[in-house]
Amino acid sequence: GTFKYTFDTPVFKGEVEVPVGLYINGKFVDGSSGTFIDVINPTNGKTTTRIAEGTPKDVNLAVAAAHKAFDTTWGLHANGVERSRLLAKLADLMETNIDTLSALEALDNGKTFYWAKRGDVSHSINCIRYYAGWADKILGQTIETTEAKLVYTRHEPAGVVGQIIPWNFPLQMMAWKIGPALATGCAVVLKPSEFTPLTALYMAKLIDEAGFPAGSFNLVNGYGHTVGQTIADHPDIEKVAFTGSTLVGRKIMEAAAKSNLKNVTLELGGKSPSIVFDDADIDQAIKWAAFGIYYNHGQCCCAGSRIFVQETIYDEFLKRFTEHTKTLKVGDPFSPETFQGPQINQQQYDRIMGFIDSGKEQGATVHFGGNRVGTEGYFISPTIFTDTKPDMRIVQEEIFGPVCVVIKFKDEADIVKQANDTVYGLAAAVFSQNIQRALGTAHKIRAGTVWVNAANMLYPNVPFGGYKQSGIGRELGEYALANYTSVKSVQVNLDIKM
Ligand code: NAD
Repeated sequence: GTFKYTFDTPVFKGEVEVPVGLYINGKFVDGSSGTFIDVINPTNGKTTTRIAEGTPKDVNLAVAAAHKAFDTTWGLHANGVERSRLLAKLADLMETNIDTLSALEALDNGKTFYWAKRGDVSHSINCIRYYAGWADKILGQTIETTEAKLVYTRHEPAGVVGQIIPWNFPLQMMAWKIGPALATGCAVVLKPSEFTPLTALYMAKLIDEAGFPAGSFNLVNGYGHTVGQTIADHPDIEKVAFTGSTLVGRKIMEAAAKSNLKNVTLELGGKSPSIVFDDADIDQAIKWAAFGIYYNHGQCCCAGSRIFVQETIYDEFLKRFTEHTKTLKVGDPFSPETFQGPQINQQQYDRIMGFIDSGKEQGATVHFGGNRVGTEGYFISPTIFTDTKPDMRIVQEEIFGPVCVVIKFKDEADIVKQANDTVYGLAAAVFSQNIQRALGTAHKIRAGTVWVNAANMLYPNVPFGGYKQSGIGRELGEYALANYTSVKSVQVNLDIKM
């Protein structure tokens, strides 16, 4: 079946039709159990629609279809030019449907239409197009050994891959995952988050329309402990890529270890520092640091949730950062004035409020916010904590909401120590107009991305991933291709006699 929805908003009007089944072996099908998952609108807590719930049996069907495609029409049977053409076509179809995808993402996730279009969807189109460019440029090497031999490597597609993604950037996480996988010829079984399945379903329709061979891409919606776990455990999946919580990341690795030692890449949580030196352009530092924490309602794995400010400018920064925070409009994702929509669901709302309570209980000061906004949906005011101690939960743990701590530091040595006092290492931002100071600090931070005088900026050709407990491996860029290829060395004996 399909779900039809009429958008009548200031920023987008139109009817959208989304398939609600599973997409297996090139067809939209009902789930084997005949059960459904309710899709909740985070703006009001009401049910938007329901989608088919996949089961372990459906995962098995998808894996079998993926293997069949890999062995017949995909993998080594579809050449790079063809894979490139299909991905480029998909990117074009996404572009044609940019408003539809943006509206669905805003409806499903609660992010603003404006940022869904400018951020998520545009970035996803660029990402698919970027990997279309790679599909026919995946090269092995010829390696010199002796004149009596020819030795070369082949970068072969890894096989059937499982991909499990979260709800914070539903379309973007899908693009990051399927782009390199399909470019290299892997066959995909994708599980979106049960909280945000709509854009992935719409994408399955576009993938179908683009003409990818049946089974090369399969979509199984469902819960983590059923569909997700079956993917992680599956003996016939060669590789699993996961983005989400560090807790579930551990389970994925454990499942891989206990089953078939499938390769694992993980993109997990963070507690990223934004570091403001006293020689920063303070206006810009305030705006970027705010964007660093409040963008996507703080639901970014790389959110700059710890803001460190040099003590000489701390009071001024805090005052002006707070004034700026007050100007950020919280409300309807489809209103052109809104910067921040609702959190994703009741569970996350409760979790974030729990962190705010813990901050108060442990003696920190709520300098701004800390409260619910409105009476329905899951809206939380942007929130600033001060007077924190390094071991407080709000300083150490990932909150995944619009909540930051603003902390003083003394000098370079002090900030490097404080910034690295975390089990995470996904990202950091450094604000300074002194290049030695900015880069000197950037190089000492144990994190996979460091922005200098910016925050939360991503490009499809720039690798992204975590140090420490923020993950394993890199996504995006040329680096991501290695996640989806297996290197084979072929040694040809031309003239060595036994
Ligand atoms: P999660 O890790 O539970 O979910 C991510 C994905 O994993 C979803 O598709 C989910 O269905 C699946 N999953 C859950 N349990 C699984 C299992 N046992 N086996 C296989 N797959 C499984 O994340 P969440 O519950 O949506 O959010 C909880 C916290 O995770 C957040 O508060 C935040 O701290 C963190 N988070 C991080 C990111 C990120 O980008 N790093 C994204 C979302 C959430």
